[in-house]
Amino acid sequence: MTGTRAACIIGWPVKHSRSPKLHGYWLERYRIDGDYRMEEVSPADFPAFLATLAAHGYVGANITIPHKDAALALSEPDDRARAVGAANTLWLDGDRLRSTNTDVEGFIGALDAAAPDWRARADGAVVLGAGGGARAVVYGLIECGVTTIHVVNRTFEKAVAFRERFGPAVRPARWSDVPRLLDNARLLVNATSLGMAKQPPLDIDVNRLAPDAVVSDVVYVPLKTALLAAAERRGLRIANGLDMLLHQAVRGFELWFGVRPEVTRELFDLLAADIAKA
Ligand code: NAP
Repeated sequence: MTGTRAACIIGWPVKHSRSPKLHGYWLERYRIDGDYRMEEVSPADFPAFLATLAAHGYVGANITIPHKDAALALSEPDDRARAVGAANTLWLDGDRLRSTNTDVEGFIGALDAAAPDWRARADGAVVLGAGGGARAVVYGLIECGVTTIHVVNRTFEKAVAFRERFGPAVRPARWSDVPRLLDNARLLVNATSLGMAKQPPLDIDVNRLAPDAVVSDVVYVPLKTALLAAAERRGLRIANGLDMLLHQAVRGFELWFGVRPEVTRELFDLLAADIAKA
């Protein structure tokens, strides 16, 4: 292929996405003749848009709300996308439109950066939530060999469905079980939208956790959620949602532009400033 390579993020709406800023930073940093654009595409137009991705000038795309399920159905997903049940990164491989779910490596990448030894303390992990983000979190933990994961959800049936989807490592639990579960956990992950700006707070007593526990939050607005602030005050190691967002973007950039980009402090600060403005 010659000329400028381009990728995009497809959503409806899409204008609040931070992906153009993030990929734009890497394109500049690695001096790549490339472009990353936003495409606002309605659900009705989405299948036709994907079918003509190359004609639109793209080598691949990120997919956001509400198209992640449709993207899975309209592409050739890898094991991660299939297991999580959503595709967020697409690329053209000749005539084939392939897909993956990079939230899995985003979550694990952020944990690795915050606490490289987290795997040694992950059995008995408590994951709050059973939505799309939680599916990526739980699949990532299972891929890393974690054998017991307590999945706590307000709608208990959705936690039970996780066990059916991911197998016996998942132990479905109710919100009332949380204090007891925290007493034995050394990894806590918030994968609900609680604690996010304009959402109800997340009420969790991090003092119940062991002193060497790791706390992760997928929420990144605000950058430091009340959960992470409380964990930090206690001296626990924390992994934040912005690091997850940055690490999940690495694979797409590499697939489209041929360079594996680095998640740097400078990039983190750039996006953090953007979030602070919001
Ligand atoms: P989702 O599929 O809608 O799931 C939302 C989850 O939050 C469900 O488990 C839901 O429980 C729970 N929840 C919502 N309101 C609640 C309440 N008042 N009380 C108790 N539980 C409540 O959403 P999602 O896509 O997983 O996103 C969740 C969060 O993750 C969002 O803040 C999103 O921005 C973030 N996220 C971040 C990244 C990243 O890269 N950092 C990636 C993906 C997602 P029920 O099932 O009972 O409704």
